Amino acid sequence: MPDDTRTVIIGGGVIGVCSAYELARRGEGVTLIEAERIAAGASEGNAGQMAIAHPPLPRPGLAWRAARWMFDPKSPLLISPRAGWSMAPWLWTFWRSCSPRVLERSMALLAVLGRLTRPMFDEIIERESIDCGYTRAGVMEVARTDAGAREGRDTVAMLRGLGVDAVWLSGGEVVEREPAFKAGVAGAAWNRESVSLDPARFTRGVAEAARRHGAIIRDRAPVRRLITRDGAVAGVELESGEHVPAARVVLAAGIASARLGRAAGVRLPMQAGKGYHREIEPAGPALTTPCVLIERFVACTPMNGRLRLAGTLEFTGVNTRMRRARLDALSNGADEYLKGVRGAAPGSEWCGLRPCTADGLPIVGPSRRAGGLIVATGHAMLGMTLGPATGRLVADLAQGRTPPVDLAPMSPDRF
Ligand SMILES: Cc1cc2nc3c(=O)[nH]c(=O)nc-3n(C[C@H](O)[C@H](O)[C@H](O)COP(=O)(O)OP(=O)(O)OC[C@H]3O[C@@H](n4cnc5c(N)ncnc54)[C@H](O)[C@@H]3O)c2cc1C
Repeated sequence: MPDDTRTVIIGGGVIGVCSAYELARRGEGVTLIEAERIAAGASEGNAGQMAIAHPPLPRPGLAWRAARWMFDPKSPLLISPRAGWSMAPWLWTFWRSCSPRVLERSMALLAVLGRLTRPMFDEIIERESIDCGYTRAGVMEVARTDAGAREGRDTVAMLRGLGVDAVWLSGGEVVEREPAFKAGVAGAAWNRESVSLDPARFTRGVAEAARRHGAIIRDRAPVRRLITRDGAVAGVELESGEHVPAARVVLAAGIASARLGRAAGVRLPMQAGKGYHREIEPAGPALTTPCVLIERFVACTPMNGRLRLAGTLEFTGVNTRMRRARLDALSNGADEYLKGVRGAAPGSEWCGLRPCTADGLPIVGPSRRAGGLIVATGHAMLGMTLGPATGRLVADLAQGRTPPVDLAPMSPDRF
């Protein structure tokens, strides 16, 4: 007799896995269903920086900057004309969200989520002995230009206003701390609360821990559709034709959540923001503090003895085709700041799709349009950071408890 009292989670990325872990630890029956393997999507190769109270994508001034970038092949942004046309409503909302008022509102929420998520990394990694290169060195946002330095100082002021431990380092202090930087950097905003890790090892480690706590983890089992009955979800149907009954379903399939939701009458307007990584073994001094290069939007994270360069935002539809020019832009951007990048031995190259909402906030909460459905997606550039906190919110919702955060701004019903 199939068990229809369980929670079924669709998607084995960091969001689905953290949700399964939290539910299993609370003794709830939970089955996670993943199309490929755990951490097959964006959670596999991202920059691995847990950036506490990091601003969302829509920010004041970004819309104009983005408009200029669209005509610069070396810029971190690419929107293909075909995708751009179908993205018009999304772009319009994005444009309107690039305002100081929206940013202030978003930051108030993201700071609360940051405070919730940060200690959870310490707890989960220690409790479950997850070997994922966890490093508590903070994250430095490094500027080369006066404009970048102004942006960095503003970031420090904003973070401190939110109660985050952040300081401004002069160019000299940056080079003294990190001799990997070339002389001439203008300074850095150092968020000392941020942490870093290998995202694939963390996600797979949490999945293993969830399994130990009683979760059923099924991989290579793509979900075809949500099964609904009388306006409520009753389970999922797999591509194999198998029906998996459920008391409730958590939709955490990254960018695929939009397609699965749509088929069940739940609108989740998101765009796939493709990003890349290239790993290198720099010939120069090793970087020890994870960084973001402000003017180039490149994240540099020491990982497994190499340096992972990650970034770019490419809106070209839902596909994982890699463009060499984008990968080269990462190396060229890093070369402007760091020694030993040019001619460095290359390692892995990867791309993944960020599930991006136009207002920059994740989608977390129950859906009014389908009873028993909890949506947990749309984390864009912050999914790794907000994974543990999201898992906690999902578990509270599944158990009918009041979450510690007001979920209204993240509601799936806001669209
Ligand atoms: C280059 C890059 C750098 C980044 N750097 C950072 C960073 O430093 N810090 C940070 O916080 N975030 C970062 N991010 C963002 C972060 O990677 C994402 O927000 C996060 O991984 C999203 O997790 P997810 O679980 O929602 O989606 P995913 O990781 O994409 O997982 C979704 C899962 O669902 C599965 N799935 C899809 N369809 C189905 C189906 N039909 N049935 C069953 N399963 C299905 C997929 O196979 C996949 O495993 C970065 C992203 C990129 C691309």
